[in-house]
Amino acid sequence: MNNDKFLQERLESINERITKTCQRIGYGKQISILPVSKTFNSEVIAETLKILKMKRFGENRAQEIKTKYYDLLEHNIEWVMIGNLQLNKVNSIINCIGEIQSLDRLELAKSIDHQLQKNNRTIKALVQIKTSPEPSKHGIYPDDLLTFLQKVSDNFPRIKISGLMTVAELTEDKDKIRSCFRTIRKLRDKVSKHNIESVNMDNLSMGMSKDFEIAIEEGSTEIRLGSILFGHR
Ligand SMILES: *Cc1c(COP(=O)(O)O)cnc(C)c1O
Repeated sequence: MNNDKFLQERLESINERITKTCQRIGYGKQISILPVSKTFNSEVIAETLKILKMKRFGENRAQEIKTKYYDLLEHNIEWVMIGNLQLNKVNSIINCIGEIQSLDRLELAKSIDHQLQKNNRTIKALVQIKTSPEPSKHGIYPDDLLTFLQKVSDNFPRIKISGLMTVAELTEDKDKIRSCFRTIRKLRDKVSKHNIESVNMDNLSMGMSKDFEIAIEEGSTEIRLGSILFGHR
């Protein structure tokens, strides 16, 4: 990690690119940035706080979230789970996270709801959608989303779904990347018409360091930025 000045410059340059993209497409609302701090340790993250002025951080591994949650407790960071979550880890991190964006199967929803019940609280969640063929990409298939949402709404009242998340195909082909983002935007539009109780579709978490401008053009409300902010992992 470089020093404060470099981080400040990176952030400014990212904000400029976001503003330009929004102007080009005539988008008037704010795009949120979720800084993704995976692999960077608690000390490094603490140093970035005064520059970034952000209070939500994304992480993809349960163990890392747990460690950083306790290390950085005094900073009141809201940790957001964005990676594949195994059932046997739910219990150990449920109290460390304020949101999960990688909700991708009913058994996970069941386990999360069960743990939340013990602690008498709710959690924000986005449903991860599979928009690319790679086996490494998790998520609900677009055609299965409505049924999934209905089941979560009916059975797991502590999970408050507020949108969708996806990771685009890893490719240089911009059309393919765009098509992943377009798929979940259209899916969001379709599902929104159904008015499922306690489910809303306000948030689309899509776009990473290499493809966030395409994601914004396709309707992203939150981009998840790792390497472009913090440097190479
Ligand atoms: C690592 C990660 C990111 C950030 O990736 P960068 O390309 O470094 O910006 C975003 N989303 C998920 C789900 C990730 O695992």
